[in-house]
Parts: sequence; C-alpha cells; structure tokens
Amino acid sequence: MDIDYLIIGQGLAGSLLAWELINRNCKVMIIDNGLENASKVAAGLINPVTGQRFVKSIDVDHLLPTAKKHYAELASFFKQSFYIEKPLLRLFKNANEIEAAHKRLEQSDYQPYLGSLNRAANSLEDISAPFGFIEQHNTGYLLTNNLLACLKEFFISKQCYQQATIHYQDIQIQPMLKWKHITPKRIIFCEGYHASSNPWFNWLPFQLAKGEILTVHHSSSHLENILNFGNWVIPLDEHLFRIGATFDRDNLNELSSDLGKVSLIKSLQSIYRPLSEGNIVKHQANIRPCTLDKQPFIGHHPTHTKLSIFNGFGAKGSLQLPWYSQKFADALLKEADIPSPINRHYATHFTA
Ligand SMILES: Cc1cc2nc3c(=O)[nH]c(=O)nc-3n(C[C@H](O)[C@H](O)[C@H](O)COP(=O)(O)OP(=O)(O)OC[C@H]3O[C@@H](n4cnc5c(N)ncnc54)[C@H](O)[C@@H]3O)c2cc1C
Repeated sequence: MDIDYLIIGQGLAGSLLAWELINRNCKVMIIDNGLENASKVAAGLINPVTGQRFVKSIDVDHLLPTAKKHYAELASFFKQSFYIEKPLLRLFKNANEIEAAHKRLEQSDYQPYLGSLNRAANSLEDISAPFGFIEQHNTGYLLTNNLLACLKEFFISKQCYQQATIHYQDIQIQPMLKWKHITPKRIIFCEGYHASSNPWFNWLPFQLAKGEILTVHHSSSHLENILNFGNWVIPLDEHLFRIGATFDRDNLNELSSDLGKVSLIKSLQSIYRPLSEGNIVKHQANIRPCTLDKQPFIGHHPTHTKLSIFNGFGAKGSLQLPWYSQKFADALLKEADIPSPINRHYATHFTA
C-alpha cells in the first residue's frame, strides 16, 4: 500500500500531526500499540505563567491563541468540548513570590495572564494560603483522553489507523521505505519517551521525567478554580479532582508508586486538608518526553532523510502541539522552515 506518511504513535503528537496532514489531503497511516501513554495520563493543564519568578512560557503569545482555536475547531467537528478554560489560583509560598508577582503585574506583556493579587491569609474557604494568592487568566485544561478517543475513531473511520507494535528491525529503509505491506514516502516517529530506544533517534538529548497523578473523589469538597501550589488541583466536576504531578528524573518507569502517592497527598494536606481525605479512585504514572534544552525535537534523520521525528513536547504538549503540528505540516508540504529543528544537535550529539 503506497501512502505519504506512516506515523508511529497515537499520542497527542501523532494524533494532531496526522489530523493536520489528513486535512491537507495526505495519505496517512497511524500505528499505535494501544497502551496507556503520557497523553492519556496527562492533566492537559495549560498554565502560561509558572515558576517562582512567574515567568511566561516561551512563545505563549502565539502558541496559546493557536491552541485555543485548534481545540475549538476540534470541538465543533466532534461536537464536544475538549479544552476547559478555568482561572487558576496560584498560592504564594513566601514573600519572595509575592514580590515577583508584583513585578510581573507592572509588565504590560503579563497583563493578559495575571489578575488580582490577594495578600490576605485565609481568604479562601478551607484552603490554607498564609501568604495569599494571585489569580491567573488564560489557564485551563485539555481533556486529552476524550480528544484522543475521538481522533482514534475518526482515523479508524478513514481507514488510516492500525493497532500494532512496530519493531524497528521490521522497518526496511533501502531501496525504499517499507513496513509490512505499507510503503510510505516518509516515516514520522511520534513515540513519546519510547524514542529514547529508537535506533535512529536515540542520540537526541532527551531528559525524560516520570510523573504521577491522582484522581480523587470527595463528596463535599468544592472548588471553582484550578489551584497551583507547586503541585496543582484541577476540579473536573463537583466531586472529582485531579492532583499532580510528581516530577522524577531517576525512576523512569510507568509504575504508580506509594512514594508518589504519599508525596501528592502530603502536599495536598498542607493546603487543602478536606480533599486530601477523599477517596483515591485512580493513580496513574507515565513518562514525559522532556528534552535537555526544553525545546521540541522536530526534523529528519541526518543520513536516513526519509525518517523523521516529531517529539520532545515535555510537560507542555497541550499548549505546544497545535502550533507545532501546523508548522511541521507546512515544512513537510510547503518546504517552510522546520520549527525547533533537531539539526541544532547534529554537530554535538550525532555520530554516524
Ligand atoms: C504525569 C504527567 C502529567 C502531565 N501533565 C501535563 C499537563 O498538565 N499539560 C501538558 O501539556 N502536558 C502534560 N504532560 C505531558 C504530555 O503528556 C506530553 O507533552 C504529551 O502528551 C506527549 O505526547 P506524545 O504523543 O509525544 O507521547 P505519548 O503520549 O507518550 O504517545 C506516544 C505513543 O506512541 C506509542 N508508541 C511508541 N512506540 C511505539 C511502537 N514501537 N509501536 C507502536 N506504538 C508505539 C505509545 O504507545 C504512545 O501511544 C504530562 C505528562 C505526564 C506523564
């Protein structure tokens, strides 16, 4: 079967890139092993201003409008919402954070993202915020599971999805690309953290990070907003909350651990005790495909130029992927520049 693109991986990266290419009339086949992945586990949080110094994410001013527009288009196509916009309350940990937030409030480019600052302790019912908090705007979360399920159904209906595990030794490169009966013009690896064992792309400087998330049911807790206090709480509905996420660069496995659970519950206890006593209905873990320079890995293999990678979206896939999939599709089809190209690492990391 002759096709344009064989996409390996139906996480958020492979899915949004495939959607983009199919909408531009390309013949695409997506292969995925169907297992739980980082995208399904992710909270999908979009939070443009983070860290102790309240720093705006790189390129958020164009990434965010593209993401919102893209998720709205997908919502209208599939007739359900995927991106839930909700204010976020960032609880201050100390006086330095209050000062940093004050400074940002004076900067005009932070205006769309920061709201009122409240220094009064205990002004939030049930929530312990001794240093007060600041309201953040343009925040929300993507219902990644629902979106991936709809896209999978769509790909199946277009006969461009197969559930299978690709073994690298089954990929033929010369004289032409081939996997089983499929002969693509290009293979694009969207394998998330599994790329670290891909023989063609494992030289890229990934810096993987495991994360664990709890889903908690509590019948009487109530939250209007997302909370961020180093960790975060997302109210999914009146009684269901997601709490996350741990960040672990050492234990790179997909196992949910007691250590992860205890650290999340402890952190929750310090700010919102009633919820920490709720019923844990799910405990998930997976691995973020983070990179050393915190930028995605996009582009073609230096010698096998028909093999490409679209990966490295770290902890910000929901914000970054709509823009990067459009730009990578432009690069593939219109010879535009590749965004965040891997050729920045050829000289330092690639050995033929
Ligand atoms: C705990 C946790 C919390 C997170 N929270 C957030 C958040 O709040 N906001 C945010 O934006 N991001 C978050 N992320 C990060 C987000 O998940 C990633 O940025 C994004 O989902 C990565 O998508 P991906 O498609 O590159 O990888 P994945 O979602 O891992 O998808 C890769 C797919 O490829 C498949 N695959 C790999 N190799 C093969 C093979 N050989 N054959 C067949 N299939 C294969 C895998 O099974 C998988 O389905 C979080 C991640 C974790 C782990």
